[in-house]
Amino acid sequence: MSLPIKELIDFGIRQLSDAGVADAEIDARELYCYMQGIDRTALMLRWQDVLQDNQCEEYFRLIQQRASRIPLQHITGRQEFMGLPFMVNEKVLIPRQDTETLVEDALELMEKGTLRGQAYTDSLKKGADVLDLCCGSGAIGISLAKLAGGAKVTCSDISEDAIKTAQQNAQINGCKSVKFEKSDMFDAFCRKMGNKKFNLIVSNPPYIATEVIGGLEPEVRDHEPAMALDGGEDGLKFYRIIAEQAPEHLKKGGVLMLEIGFDQKDAVKDLLRETGRFEKIVGLTDLTGKDRIIAAILSKNKQKTA
Ligand code: GLN
Repeated sequence: MSLPIKELIDFGIRQLSDAGVADAEIDARELYCYMQGIDRTALMLRWQDVLQDNQCEEYFRLIQQRASRIPLQHITGRQEFMGLPFMVNEKVLIPRQDTETLVEDALELMEKGTLRGQAYTDSLKKGADVLDLCCGSGAIGISLAKLAGGAKVTCSDISEDAIKTAQQNAQINGCKSVKFEKSDMFDAFCRKMGNKKFNLIVSNPPYIATEVIGGLEPEVRDHEPAMALDGGEDGLKFYRIIAEQAPEHLKKGGVLMLEIGFDQKDAVKDLLRETGRFEKIVGLTDLTGKDRIIAAILSKNKQKTA
């Protein structure tokens, strides 16, 4: 069977939507581009081409995989983040577009001392020592290393496999100076590195409540690492650890920036406030208007005030 590309892709779209895939059209095109090693513009130019048997079969095979709800990114092995290429696999969370917001805010803060145009702190403007805690694929830390002039980035994760993937991503993006540390939260920074302190700690920790995970889309539930999603009974387990321990790992005037779930703003703000160690605790939304980020500054006053 030989088919014009348009018909082939239309068939792919139908298969994917019948299987309940949300972005059937985008994914059907992306799988074709992946198979041919071309980008979306090149696809438009070849729309009228006719494909031969063996290529049709190869495409059907890819569509079948995606229809079984394997994430697109696990088939192609890649995901763009902040316009940069990242390699992904089943050992790391696939970088989400929502998380780009965190990187953009951190970049603005490092460059201008502002958050969404409002003065926040100038403490990161002279080049920051940055920790990406729970780095996974390294998307946040590596983007910051690549896009923020003068940032010295360390990426840490409890998973050895995640660290390996992040190291490969640093290499792909030519970020030679990024450091990697296998660490259960801050543990390695207490013992090995003599209580190492940073100007900026960024983190997208696991934050989904355990019982919610079973109800997520099959792509996430069955293929992404539970370890990168599961935030314990109430989803806040890792924010509690961060609230308590981050002050010991922030330099004077240092900043904490956390990705949060859409319904966690008040709870995470409270956790930070209750330590009495943070000031200027603010929430920021993502492009869709959902609460997505909490930023806070290590307060100069060491006394617990709350
Ligand atoms: N944003 C991710 C999701 O909704 C979860 C990320 C996380 O737990 N850190 O699937």
